Amino acid sequence: MTATTTARPSPRVLPGAKRLPLSQVTVLTKIPVLPISYADAQPLLAALGGRVAPEPWRGALPITYHTGPGPARVHLKVAFNWDTRPIYDVIARIPGSQYPDEWVIRGNHHDAWVNGAEDPASGAAAVLEEARAFSELLKQGWKPRRTILLCLWDGEEPGLLGSTEWAETHAAELARSGAVYVNSDSNGRGYLSMSGSHTLERFMNGVARDIEDPESKTTAWKRLQARTLANGPPETRADLRIGALGSGSDYTAFIDHLGVASLNLAYGGEDGGGIYHSIYDDFYWYTHFSDKDFVYGRALAQTAGLAVMRLAGADLLPFDFDDFTDTVRRYVNEVEQLARDRRQEIVSRNRNIDQGLYAATEDPRNPTVARRKQPVPPFLNFAPLDNAMAALQQAADGYDAALAQASAAGQANPRLIAVERALTVQEGLPNRPWFKHQIYAPGFYTGYGVKTLPGVRESIEQNEWKLADQEIARAAGAMEAAAAEINAAAAALK
Ligand SMILES: [Zn+2]
Repeated sequence: MTATTTARPSPRVLPGAKRLPLSQVTVLTKIPVLPISYADAQPLLAALGGRVAPEPWRGALPITYHTGPGPARVHLKVAFNWDTRPIYDVIARIPGSQYPDEWVIRGNHHDAWVNGAEDPASGAAAVLEEARAFSELLKQGWKPRRTILLCLWDGEEPGLLGSTEWAETHAAELARSGAVYVNSDSNGRGYLSMSGSHTLERFMNGVARDIEDPESKTTAWKRLQARTLANGPPETRADLRIGALGSGSDYTAFIDHLGVASLNLAYGGEDGGGIYHSIYDDFYWYTHFSDKDFVYGRALAQTAGLAVMRLAGADLLPFDFDDFTDTVRRYVNEVEQLARDRRQEIVSRNRNIDQGLYAATEDPRNPTVARRKQPVPPFLNFAPLDNAMAALQQAADGYDAALAQASAAGQANPRLIAVERALTVQEGLPNRPWFKHQIYAPGFYTGYGVKTLPGVRESIEQNEWKLADQEIARAAGAMEAAAAEINAAAAALK
């Protein structure tokens, strides 16, 4: 294993950080944002007048929340550090013995807002432990078939800078060779959490079945299944569902921009919390209130390490398309239902306006802006998505049948890697061409939160019906392209 620390001779910086006047920068928000403590926030919030804030807008301070505007006026003097300085990614590489041009990438960031015991050291420590274990295995003669890249990213907190710059710099190689990216970020005591590309859902279920939960001594999978069954609606499928990825960590450039199948792994849910991104996320807190004896740190290293070893060691990459098809079908059903609900909502609202219901129920002493009628949305044509679903189902079944007959990978691996790539489109999502994946994206208005089938879902949510029709066709095209790659993989099996 060769480890290199790369310092860029002249640091590359985001377009926004170059010496452009801020008015010319298009990628940075113009509203300065500064998190402040509740003690500083309370007098500002308490000074607001106007209406009482709707329930979801209220916080938990012992005041009545108002929406403003005014009557208080506040003068804010905001000081920022605009220094340009280098950041450092640390990349270690284990060359693959049989498929060196297929890369399994494992990463966690190493920068922190303040002390960062949980975020990121608890996750970064797992990557270091995996690296130590791999080096022991290499000494014993272990030879992974695929190339493994171990990455510690810098500059994650200010905007995923290290991983994004690295992924953009190596975009051409990653487009050819990026097989899977396995991310973690923070870790703690409790349940395994798995999110990512649903083509890896079955694979990750298999890994979780082989990891012992360090405190309950059952498997990580069994414990998660018990909680899922205890708290959720009854499920009869064999595999636990994994979540879809939004944003908020270093997988973003890999999955959303480049279409490299990605996973995000962590343990947690039984530690205290309340320290996130603050000065209190320190070693004292972690060793008194979180994973005190680091047994869940070991479990994360075992989980991610085993995933990387299986991905890098398999003759045939362990992608599966049954759970993927099942999940995408849910997303398609959701957007179709969303369109029906939106339409119904507008129709009944318009009827209420016609019948004068809102005017009659208005508080005469506190009048609000009168609601206006909206054009009734057209029925959208979902046929392209329904046809793409049929193609995906057929491809998934065909792949299973071919796999049952196959004795070796043949030329299937490059085609399997191409499936996730096929789910991206070059022109990207409306208003944000950098985000190219058609199944997963962080929402335009939700920050970290994921929107699945994002182009379709968000255009419906924004009442952009013409755009919705275009986005249906675009997403369906990507799904058809993925189905074609799955068919090609099936044909390439030996
Ligand atoms: Zn983090």
